[in-house]
Amino acid sequence: MALIDLKTMGISDKLIDLSEKVEDSLALRFKEIDKKEEVNQLKVLKAMQDNRLSEGHFAHTTGYGYNDIGRECLEDIYKSLFNTEAALVRPQITCGTHALNVALAANLRPGDELLSPVGKPYDTMDEIIGIRESRGSLKEYGVSYRQVDLLPDGSIDYDGVKEAINEKTKVVTIQRSRGYSKRPTLSVEEIGKLISFVKEIKPDAICMVDNCYGELVDDYEPSDVGADMTVGSLIKNLGGGLAPIGGYIVGTNECIEQCAYRLTSPGLGKEVGATLGVTHTLFQGLFNAPSVVSSALKGAIFAAGLYQELGYEVFPRVDEVRHDIIQAVDMKTPEGLCAFCKGIQAAAPVDSYVVPEPWAMPGYDSDVIMAAGTFISGASIELSADGPLKEPYTVFFQGGLNYGHAKYGILKSAQFVLDSI
Ligand SMILES: *Cc1c(COP(=O)(O)O)cnc(C)c1O
Repeated sequence: MALIDLKTMGISDKLIDLSEKVEDSLALRFKEIDKKEEVNQLKVLKAMQDNRLSEGHFAHTTGYGYNDIGRECLEDIYKSLFNTEAALVRPQITCGTHALNVALAANLRPGDELLSPVGKPYDTMDEIIGIRESRGSLKEYGVSYRQVDLLPDGSIDYDGVKEAINEKTKVVTIQRSRGYSKRPTLSVEEIGKLISFVKEIKPDAICMVDNCYGELVDDYEPSDVGADMTVGSLIKNLGGGLAPIGGYIVGTNECIEQCAYRLTSPGLGKEVGATLGVTHTLFQGLFNAPSVVSSALKGAIFAAGLYQELGYEVFPRVDEVRHDIIQAVDMKTPEGLCAFCKGIQAAAPVDSYVVPEPWAMPGYDSDVIMAAGTFISGASIELSADGPLKEPYTVFFQGGLNYGHAKYGILKSAQFVLDSI
């Protein structure tokens, strides 16, 4: 029987040669990532051991979910992992946006002000805050919003932040990842510096970090450098590709208690919330997360290297230090962007025979093309790509449950791009 390899899977000799050259040049980077993975794997393992995770914690609960020991153990593990007083890790948190909304709405009251010192936050925050009018926004509840843009070189405008903090400032929201923009991703160190700066001016300000896509990329998390709340989605990094749903908020007792009362109900808080058998996957996904994040990072760096060699502009550049798993490539033409996404889709384990087409997605001002052949619907920790059909036709690409697949997907995208020219 003939061996299956990149060539028999439709990758040209030219691209295979180029990919070997790129991989060789990345050997040291990959080694650094392996080191981080090891540190994070041991951190996750220790959190599980210290909290005496056992088979009994995998049991189902239904109904109110009182005394769900699996849920409690999972939250204790997150507390250990993030080095916080409290954690809320629930399948009832439907996504990252929901987790962020709970964290903000729970800790802000009418008359308070929310400050973003790192420019405009992720798109789905617009309607939470009321930047775009929406039912139930913070604005509707009398919470005002202020924003300090990053300086032209992407650094934090500390003078502007100092000026913006006032007697109403209650919560400061800090987005770690670039999200789908080209601002640089913040390192945990920079986040720590910003939090200290804020607290020096206003010690009682609550600092919340949107940690989406950043978990386990550095050795430390924002909660290690003073964040009062750290928030994210379980269908991204920490779900390890297995979590079918969920979000987390970790932080101080005071903040997390507020969040629990908001997520369920005043008076009920953390005491309710049946886990319906999902907990087992949340434990196992977390256990796999360091390796999955490591694969996704290697895939992102490989993509940066390959596309840079092919003459495209990439963000971040191949040799930049990374603090999240997102890679952007300017594809220059609509055909290039579509070919990239079609290649990613053709390389997917699920729906590989489907051809993605651009469409008018709600909330976007131009057509968008998306590629995702994922086991968990919409999970962006799995190999996926998307981009709006407007200049400079940037594709945002992330994920990969294992490096072999991430590499193949990127090569397949490049093959489609080269074949389309
Ligand atoms: C993905 C993401 C969100 C929102 O998460 P969803 O699960 O898509 O709702 C918020 N902020 C950032 C930076 C993200 O990357």
